[in-house]
Amino acid sequence: MEITQHSRYACPACGKNGVKRTAVGIWKCKACKKVYAGGAYTFGTPSAGTVRSTIRRLREVAET
Ligand SMILES: [Zn+2]
Repeated sequence: MEITQHSRYACPACGKNGVKRTAVGIWKCKACKKVYAGGAYTFGTPSAGTVRSTIRRLREVAET
């Protein structure tokens, strides 16, 4: 089964079709630079809490 790994997805924050996968489970919006946690191959939000905690974790990594 073929999975479209490099397709873009609509950004929940800015609405633009600029979300691309940057790493496994990590999705970034080209337009507003927001980072999301999603599936390994498809962009989806498992739950808002999961996304929020992942973004916080990413921020902590970026700031240290
Ligand atoms: Zn965006």
